[in-house]
Amino acid sequence: MIMDSPAQALVDLDAISGNVAALREHVAPSAVMAVVKAAGYGHGAVAAARAAIRGGARWLGVVHVAEALELRAAGVEGPLLCLMAIGSDAHAAAIGAGVDLSAGSVAMVRLVAAAAAAAGRPARLHLKADTGLSRGGATAADWPSVVDAALTAQAAGRLSVVGLWSHFASADEPGNPSVTEQLGAFGEAVAAAEKAGVTPEVRHIANTAAALLVPQARYDLVRIGGGIYGLSTLPGGAPPWLRPVMTLRARLAMVKRVPAGTGVSYGHRYVTARETTLGLLPVGYADGVPRSAAGRPLLFARGRRWPAAGTVCMDQLVIDFGDEPVAAGDEVVLFGPGDDGEATAQEWGEALGTISYEIVTGIGGRVARSYP
Ligand SMILES: *Cc1c(COP(=O)(O)O)cnc(C)c1O
Repeated sequence: MIMDSPAQALVDLDAISGNVAALREHVAPSAVMAVVKAAGYGHGAVAAARAAIRGGARWLGVVHVAEALELRAAGVEGPLLCLMAIGSDAHAAAIGAGVDLSAGSVAMVRLVAAAAAAAGRPARLHLKADTGLSRGGATAADWPSVVDAALTAQAAGRLSVVGLWSHFASADEPGNPSVTEQLGAFGEAVAAAEKAGVTPEVRHIANTAAALLVPQARYDLVRIGGGIYGLSTLPGGAPPWLRPVMTLRARLAMVKRVPAGTGVSYGHRYVTARETTLGLLPVGYADGVPRSAAGRPLLFARGRRWPAAGTVCMDQLVIDFGDEPVAAGDEVVLFGPGDDGEATAQEWGEALGTISYEIVTGIGGRVARSYP
């Protein structure tokens, strides 16, 4: 199966465990939640979760209930939170499987309480405050009514409020004043909830960037996504003590000599300057190599970098190797940890006007993940 796959994403699970261990030390005494949403940022949710637990992650985080149930079905245990507060037919199943849910509105608290009744077991609920991101979560004005609804449902035996949480807008911009403002707003939300009678197990607001940069943001638990995969949205990427986990590579499907003046790939946006060797790499934008990668020296083969010549297609791209003695079957590394001169996902993000997260989560389903 893996042998037949034209492209492979090699996932270094020991690097995930090592990154988690290093992050744990960095944020101690706070605990680490390993965020394995979106198929573990493209690395494979179950494998990433297990590796993170080996590294000392006490919690796991996903976005959707289906993602949580996939982990439980695979036998992954331990505290597990669904970050997205959204109606789901599977809430009762989630509660039955010991999955924590989140609510940032009275309506969501009631949905969770009803699902708990159906499950015949109290839900574990994290109340989310909107402290300035203006995404999910209760505004300061709505917070008291959300807390009140949750305490009412708790008194009725439907749920237990185990967490208070929020999320930053600009934690990856060092010195951005919104970070301090959001910390202040979160402190007030926590104080108000505790005064009303909530006794949370965990209070959490920090993602990777905040966990790295803002010690006051660590509270009881930090929610680390990118960092466990050796990535971050900070300028310049993750610190060097975090190791990029994924290597994307493919093998040349064929090579051929062509004369000067040969138009290459759709639209002939590239024309050979002289007689040369073209190599066909069987990965394209359906595999997560963006069309905008054309012309940028991001492909590593034979000890140096090469650009895609002309348009990146859905399933393939072409490299102009000049007189380099390449052969079908030669390996091309698209990105990796950067040890040998290959690009990193961070470099891809910078070159293409996005972030490393979009690169790794964009690697398509037909790229085989392998865990060497
Ligand atoms: C994805 C996500 C995280 C993890 O963010 P990173 O920058 O990858 O560490 C944390 N919290 C929430 C709510 C998220 O959605």
